Formats: sequence, C-alpha cells, structure tokens
Amino acid sequence: MEKKEHLVLGKTWEEWEKEYPVVGDIRALRETVWINPDKIPCGQAVKECRLTMDDVLDAGSRLERFAPYFEKAFPETAASHGIIESPLKKITKMKAALEEWGNAEIPGELWAKLDSHLAVSGSIKARGGIYEVLKHAEDIAVNHGLLRGGESYEIFDSDKFRNVFSQYSIGVGSTGNLGLSIGIMSAKLGFQVTVHMSADARQWKKDMLRSKGVTVKEYESDYSVAVKEGRQQAQKNPHCYFVDDENSRTLFLGYSVAALRLQKQFEEQGIPVDKDHPLFVYLPCGVGGGPGGVAFGLKLVFGEHAHCFFAEPTHSCCMLLGMATGKNNEVSVQDFGIDNITVADGLAVGRASGFVGALMRPFMDGCYSLEDDKMYQMLAMMADSEGIYLEPSALAGMYGPLLGSRFPAFREYLRAEGLEETIARGTHLAWVTGGSMVPEDEMKSYYEKGKALL
Ligand SMILES: *Cc1c(COP(=O)(O)O)cnc(C)c1O
Repeated sequence: MEKKEHLVLGKTWEEWEKEYPVVGDIRALRETVWINPDKIPCGQAVKECRLTMDDVLDAGSRLERFAPYFEKAFPETAASHGIIESPLKKITKMKAALEEWGNAEIPGELWAKLDSHLAVSGSIKARGGIYEVLKHAEDIAVNHGLLRGGESYEIFDSDKFRNVFSQYSIGVGSTGNLGLSIGIMSAKLGFQVTVHMSADARQWKKDMLRSKGVTVKEYESDYSVAVKEGRQQAQKNPHCYFVDDENSRTLFLGYSVAALRLQKQFEEQGIPVDKDHPLFVYLPCGVGGGPGGVAFGLKLVFGEHAHCFFAEPTHSCCMLLGMATGKNNEVSVQDFGIDNITVADGLAVGRASGFVGALMRPFMDGCYSLEDDKMYQMLAMMADSEGIYLEPSALAGMYGPLLGSRFPAFREYLRAEGLEETIARGTHLAWVTGGSMVPEDEMKSYYEKGKALL
C-alpha cells in the first residue's frame, strides 16, 4: 500500500532516483546542480526551433510602438522615452560579500540586471505580462478599426479606446507579481480584469490591485490551482482573454526582448561576450516563462557564449524536476512528497510550464536549487553592500557565482565546456527579478530575518 501511494507515472520514488540520481537530492531538499545532457549545438537548436529571432524582433517593435503611450500614461517612463527597461549594474561590493560569505573566490566580474526596478510593476513580470496585454489590446484595436497604421499609440490613452476595452475582460492566475503586472496594465487600458491569486500571494499585492479597480480572487491552494480555476472561468466568457502563464508563447516572447536590450547595455559598458569572455546568467525560475524567455533571447543573441542556469528554491524546484526527469509538466514537486512552500513567493510553483520545458530542452545549460535561508541572507547582504533592497525570489540568481565552489557537477560543466580558464575573464549576471515595490515594513522584516541568519 505504502509503495503504491508513491507511484509517479507508474514508477516508485526509488525507481526515479535510481534512474536520475538528482531526484535523490530533490527529494531530500538538498541544494543541487543539474546539467542538461540533451543540450545540442546552439546554432542547430536555433535552426530547429519554432520560435525565431524574427518573433523576438517583432515583439521588440511592438513595445516600441507602445512607447508613446507609456510616456503619456505612465510618466515615470518618460525618462526612458516610454521604454520599460532595467539598469545593468556592476556589483563589486556584493561580489566581495559573496566571496567572504561563501569562503570562495569568484572568478570573473559580477553584474546584476535589476528587473526589480522595472517601471510600472517592479518585477520581471513587467516584461512578459505587460507585453501580452499590449498585444491583446492592439489586436482588439485593429479589429475595431481603431488603428489604420502610422498613428502614434498615444491614442490608446483615450476614452474612445477605454470604452472599447471596457467591453472585454482579462484574467490571469498568479502567485503575485504576474497578477500585479497584468492587473495594473489591463486596468490602465480600461479592461475589466480578474486576478486569481494563489495562497502564497502577499497581502500588499492584493491590496494594491484592488485599489486600482482589479477584481482579486483568492485561493487557499497553490499556483497551479489558481491558474486552472482562472482558465476555467475565463473559458465561460467569450469576451474574456486568459493570460496563460503555463503555455503562453506571447508572454515568452515579451520576456525574450530583454536579450536585445541587454546586448545594447553590454556594448555601452564595453563588456564583451564571446569565446574568450563567457557570460553566465542565473535566472530565478517559477513556472519558467520569465527565465525561459530571457534565456531563449540570450541564446539567439549570444549563442553558445551565454550559459544560462535556472534557479529555484529547494521546496519548489519544479523546472529542475521536470527537466531532470524529462517529464516537464507531467510531474510536480508534490508528486515527490515536496510541499512547495517557500518564502520566495515569485517562485512558489510546483509544476513547471511544459511549453517552456520542451522549447528550452535543446538550449538549456542547467538548473540549480537553493535553500530559502540563503535567499534571506543574500537579501541582507545586497542591502548592506550595495544598498539595493530586493524580494527573496530575486536573490535566487545571486547564488550562481558560487556554484563552482560548491558543486562538482558545475565544475565538471566548466571543464566539459572548456571554460575553466576563460571564466576568469567572463561575466556573471544575476537576474534580479523583483522587489522595488515591496512595502517598507515587509522589507524590514525580510532584512532582519536575513541579518539574524548571517
Ligand atoms: C515570476 C517571477 C519569477 C519567475 O518567473 P516565471 O515566469 O514564473 O518562471 C522570478 N522572480 C520573481 C520576483 C517573479 O515574480
């Protein structure tokens, strides 16, 4: 009887572990690194992929078309001429702090991509989430004959457009930040919008959305259930568009535009990315759309010289599990007796996107997991060393530069890829995914918890 309960796709936990030893680490909630054995040469993966650079460029152009709208509707984007983009910052003091904390030297430079400070919604979701709402709004405007071509998209900020959009609704399931991003954007354009929040969602995120006229439905279950409920309710209403975080190609492409922008920022900073100067990117991962889209873009732009790793909490390492077993969204962490409970609310996902898992299979370099306490500690370290305050999820990527000092599997990756020498001339980029909108008292308690653990 006992055994039967533990069958996952017909196999016992022990059988899974035997076939994929990393499942042993995952089940024991041990931090681990998994290297993708199915990666193929980047050029070939690009050729075989159903999404292309043209798709990414198309998404980039759409965001440019909307820039005049943003300048008008969100004055905080005026300085960047209506383009929502985050700073790239060299974090030398944090590097020193990490080295001391980890008792290890970090070869290469450390930079942070501060999506925490993206305008409008303060997280990486300001990329994909906002993009998908804009695309939908543009489609509706075209169908209603509101766009003839050539006009400035400032007109999206008008009663005429808002009246049309008010006949439509948008729904989304979220652990918090996606809801924030979709909710704020949709409400601003004039849509009716419902956000289905999982139990992990922070109260302030729900409060903020309600204050903007968004309908927030709360669930006592986790993210997958919130998405499923939201999807079902949306299906009943032909005028409702559901942003499907688990399967959305549009979201994914919105995220991928980050790579084009990063390429420019690297050029401006004089940072080379090539055979002699590898780029290591560490991306906090929930369902996978954000990190997947960004990593996909980076592979298109930098090819095999971009080494992309997804970072997840030990209690919610769904992408790691799906990738390592090759079963993607057919398995969840709960299937393996793991609770999906983590302070990193943005990453509290038990079942990864099958769409992202399959698409990224030939591209991906690997995944790793880390404990919640480490995120708290690094949160306090970032605050003390750089004066940058982040939400716990955002710190998952900051562990990346220490992987080589902690995990033989990562050292073996460096050896196999011929990176042992060049890493010293390379760049580590921690994708810092959220935090600037966290209320002060909440931030204070994160920080104090981190300090206490240090
Ligand atoms: C959503 C989120 C992520 C991960 O994005 P997914 O698309 O869910 O993988 C990472 N960090 C933060 C802060 C997030 O809100």
